[in-house]
Amino acid sequence: MGVIEERSLTWVTDYFSGSELELVERAYRQALDAHNGQRRASGEPYIDHCIEVSRMLAELGLDHRAVAAGLLHDVVEDTDLTVEQIRERFDDEVARLVDGVTKLAYIDTMSKMGSRDMEAQEAESLRKMFLAMVDDVRVVLIKLADRLHNMRTLSSLPPDRRERIARETLEIFAPLANRLGIWQIKWELEDLGFRHYDPETYYHIAHLINERQEERENYIQRVIAELQARLRLEGISAVVEGRPKHIYSIYRKMRRKGVDFDQIYDVRGLRVIVDSVQDCYAALGVVHSLWKPIPGQFDDFIATPKDNMYQSLHTAVVGPEGKTVEAQIRTREMHRRIRDRVPLAIQGGGQTRHCL
Ligand code: MN
Repeated sequence: MGVIEERSLTWVTDYFSGSELELVERAYRQALDAHNGQRRASGEPYIDHCIEVSRMLAELGLDHRAVAAGLLHDVVEDTDLTVEQIRERFDDEVARLVDGVTKLAYIDTMSKMGSRDMEAQEAESLRKMFLAMVDDVRVVLIKLADRLHNMRTLSSLPPDRRERIARETLEIFAPLANRLGIWQIKWELEDLGFRHYDPETYYHIAHLINERQEERENYIQRVIAELQARLRLEGISAVVEGRPKHIYSIYRKMRRKGVDFDQIYDVRGLRVIVDSVQDCYAALGVVHSLWKPIPGQFDDFIATPKDNMYQSLHTAVVGPEGKTVEAQIRTREMHRRIRDRVPLAIQGGGQTRHCL
C-alpha cells in the first residue's frame, strides 16, 4: 500500500506528481519512522503535526522540497536523526531547510529569557534577527506553519505555557507573517494568540460581535445594495461584499484610538472589487458622494503600497443612520494576491532569497 493512502496524506497528489511526489512520500515515511511512538501534548500521534504543517505549505504554493522539509521539520530536534543523514537520504536543499528551521528554535529560547512584557523595540529586533538568520524565506514559512499548528492545538498545554507562547506569537510571529504578506496566517495567529493571551477580553469582544451579528448583517446588506446600484448607474462594474472581522484587529484599533467597540469603524466593513486602478478611484468617488467621508480616515495604499506590498484604497464614511462604515477598494488582481495568500517572496519559484 502506498503511503499516500495512509492517514491524511491524500492531499499531496493535488499538488505533486512524479519524482516530486516521490520525494514528499519518502519524507513522510522518514518522519513517520523517526517520530514513531511519539505523541503530542494533545495525545495525537506526533506525525499528525508534521502532516498539518506540510499541508499548509502546499496550500501556500511552496515547492515539493519545502513540503518535504515541513514533514521533517522536527526530526533533528526531537529524534535521533541528524542533518547529515537527511542530506544523504534526501538532498542538500531539503537538509538546509530542516537545518534552518531547527536553528530558528533558538529564537524561542531567547524570548523565553525576555521579560514578561517585551518592549516593542525588543520584539522588533528579535523579528529582524529572525529574518537575518535565514537565507531562504521557505525556512520562515515552515516556522510560521509550525507555529500556526501549535497555536491551533495550544489548549492542551498548561495555562502559563499557553500565555507565554501566545504572547510570543503576537509579538514575533504574527508581525512576521504580516511582513511576508501572508494575511490568512497572520489573522489566524493574531486571533489565536489574543484568545490565549487575554481570554477575558477576547471573549468579551467576540460576544459583542455575535450579539449584534444579525443587526450588522442587515445593515451591511442595505449599504451593499445602495452602493451597487449607484456604481451600476455610473457604469462601474464592481463586486461589493461585506468583510469578515478579526477580533484582534478590532481590539488593537480600540486600544490605538482609545475608543469603544461602538466607535470602531471597520466593524461594519465593505470590500469593493473592480477591474482597473482607474475604477478604484472612480468607485472611491462614488462612495464619497453617497456618504460623507470621515476626515483622516483615507489611505491610498495603491499609490503607496504597504511594506508588504498590500494595495487597496481605504476610507471610512458616515453611512445610513449615521453609522460608520469602512470600505476597502481594490482591483481583482490586487484582491487575488491577498486572497491567494501567495507571499510575493515566493512567487515565481521557491528559490527566491528573501529581500526584507
Ligand atoms: Mn513542530
